[in-house]
Amino acid sequence: MPETGASSSAPLGQREAVARARVLLPLALDTPYDYAVPADISLAPGDFVTVPLGRRERVGCVWDGAATGEEIAAERLRKIHRKLPAPPIGENLRRFVEWVARYNCASVGAVLKMVMSAPDALESERPATGYTLVPSAKSPAKFQMTGTRKRVLAALADAPPLSAADLAREAGVSAGVIAGLASAGLIRPVSMASAPAPRQPDPHLHGPELSPDQRACADALVARVTAARYSVTLLDGVTGSGKTEVYLTAVAAALRQGKQVLVLVPEIALTAQWLARFEERFGAPPSQWHSDLTSAQRRRAWRAIASGQARVVVGARSALFLPFPDLGLIVVDEEHDASFKQEEGVIYQARDMAVVRANIEQIPIVLVSATPSLETFANVEQGRYTRLHLPDRFAGAKLPQIALIDMRQDRPPRQAWLSPTLSAAMSETLAAGEQALLFLNRRGFAPLTLCRHCGHRLQCPNCTAWLVDHRREGRLRCHHCGFYSAEPKVCPACATADAFAACGPGVERLAEEAQALFPAARIGIMTSDTLRGPGAAGDFIARIEAREFDIVIGTQVVAKGHHFPYLTLVGVVDGDLGLAGGDLRAAERTYQLLSQVAGRAGRAEHPGRVFIQTYMPENTVMQALLSGDRDRFYRAESDARRAHRMPPYGRLAAIIISGPAEDDVAAAARALARSAPNEPGMSVLGPAPAPLRRLANQYRWRLLVKADKDVNIQAAIRAWLPPAKSKGGLRVRIDIDPYSFL
Ligand code: ADP
Ligand code: ZN
Repeated sequence: MPETGASSSAPLGQREAVARARVLLPLALDTPYDYAVPADISLAPGDFVTVPLGRRERVGCVWDGAATGEEIAAERLRKIHRKLPAPPIGENLRRFVEWVARYNCASVGAVLKMVMSAPDALESERPATGYTLVPSAKSPAKFQMTGTRKRVLAALADAPPLSAADLAREAGVSAGVIAGLASAGLIRPVSMASAPAPRQPDPHLHGPELSPDQRACADALVARVTAARYSVTLLDGVTGSGKTEVYLTAVAAALRQGKQVLVLVPEIALTAQWLARFEERFGAPPSQWHSDLTSAQRRRAWRAIASGQARVVVGARSALFLPFPDLGLIVVDEEHDASFKQEEGVIYQARDMAVVRANIEQIPIVLVSATPSLETFANVEQGRYTRLHLPDRFAGAKLPQIALIDMRQDRPPRQAWLSPTLSAAMSETLAAGEQALLFLNRRGFAPLTLCRHCGHRLQCPNCTAWLVDHRREGRLRCHHCGFYSAEPKVCPACATADAFAACGPGVERLAEEAQALFPAARIGIMTSDTLRGPGAAGDFIARIEAREFDIVIGTQVVAKGHHFPYLTLVGVVDGDLGLAGGDLRAAERTYQLLSQVAGRAGRAEHPGRVFIQTYMPENTVMQALLSGDRDRFYRAESDARRAHRMPPYGRLAAIIISGPAEDDVAAAARALARSAPNEPGMSVLGPAPAPLRRLANQYRWRLLVKADKDVNIQAAIRAWLPPAKSKGGLRVRIDIDPYSFL
């Protein structure tokens, strides 16, 4: 089959040849559908078209690859309506879509939908209209020159045409005022010359002078960019070693070669400092791609990327599916971060899929971390990835000293969570005019509220979960489904009034404790709740930099990548928290998170101290943090995983069955387990109710598929499970390489 979507076929006994095209629709479909191509449309694979489907019109993408299924008779084919003016998506992206679908047991159409993430970008841009003054126009009789009208005319005097929106903003008037002036003939609409091209990052500007270590790593990366072949490099360096400066050198090299660059980051909301640095380095900001974009921003960004105008894109995981025509480099910053795993819709691991995209595009990819994932660590050990190493902090800044506080000895007062050692360190830090960070990965005031009289625990009515007391909002909230309510007046179980007790600390409660200890200290709380809207994180971080807070109390959102020159003390309030659930990655993740938090301390000339409060100081994670011997910890973790043939030395897939009636869910789960394939090297564990047994009123049961590394787990699952169809409200989700076991 030639590489064209449209093909002529004239089966015997049929008079006319019909040009056909296969069109993939962004729906849960695994194959493209055949359509007839009208004579006046010429199509190539990757073109976007509108087609009839049932009684609706849909946008789809002309697809290539081997034909599947039986051919529909020519006379039954429906016709393509229209070709859209968007640039076609390239062959590499089409193959990537298929690869992601196959690997993650998702439908090709559902993956295509992630590519078509800005539907209105596919239509041509409406030419923008602006307004200009009509020279020497007289206002008609009875038309009063009010103050607002005068302001509009003044704004247009000696100025280029302005769009209605800009004009309204400039003059501080409503759109109606502008329409009124236009109908009075005082201003008139003109088509604006296409907007001036946005400033482009300039790859010829000089970055900072690199240290010899940094220089060596940067040179190696630049060589890989110049080679323009597939390669995977781990840029492994302690926090503050200048990894960002080093990979920006590679970004500059790719730009100089006329290539586009994609930088994936875990959470775009937390990149304000990164964006500022990028702009300083390159003289212009990168394009951004994340879920907070408005639909107009999304449309513009998508088109700029598809047309090649956008040269550098920084984005969250979904940016991986953008239609770069000219990609030359991918960087995955903080590659170990669990938020690269997409848990809804098409479930995929963006870091892993980024490596696949780099392979299909035949370009280099750089994975960046101070605490790489064990998957990446194993790939380096096995020689598949190359490692570049930055062992020291930049400019002689010292890595912080880490100390463990044994909470069995160093006990906080009753109903308090800060040990005497930690509060003493805080008072020293505050006395020196420096900042302290308290890290506690728990939002709200308290994670559990119970009745002192009967022991009843306040639970979410929709989920197997406690309600979290968010006292500043005056609400109890479920962190799983979004349910909230006021605290009940009496216990729902025993009707006793005023008997509720908050159990355990959240950041709000810790703030009360810290304020009581240090009444003069200015305390700021940073969590995903306190940061509302896209600019909020950047604003808060700027306030920390400006030393508006003496004590910052935060969840993992403060742990990520920020650089606070006056922050010299980090206190981890509950080092054991992440170890509790005990899933596959609990130790690895706790190590990564606590190293990152610790890395916030003493990044400038003032040395930093870190205290980790723990009830199990002998635990291997705590000992690894204390000794700083990361690789020894990683090797021990790797050995344990290898011994149990767990990832990355074995394969896992989770199958989650959910539905409104638990009996049906359980029956379906058991039926699936009975029909499990008898594949050598593969076993199916379960079914069992999920730890989060009920979520948003859906009951959930789980199966876990465990297989040797060389088993094609996807093929086995596809042959076993029918394509995901919901029957009687039952849903079956497949999670390849699961991160969540809830
Ligand atoms: P990492 O990403 O490894 O945590 P960064 O790239 O954020 O490290 O660097 C830490 C700090 O040191 C930043 O403020 C950065 O601007 C500064 N820095 C790193 N390398 C250099 C350099 N070669 N010249 C000047 N400043 C540097
Ligand atoms: Zn809930």
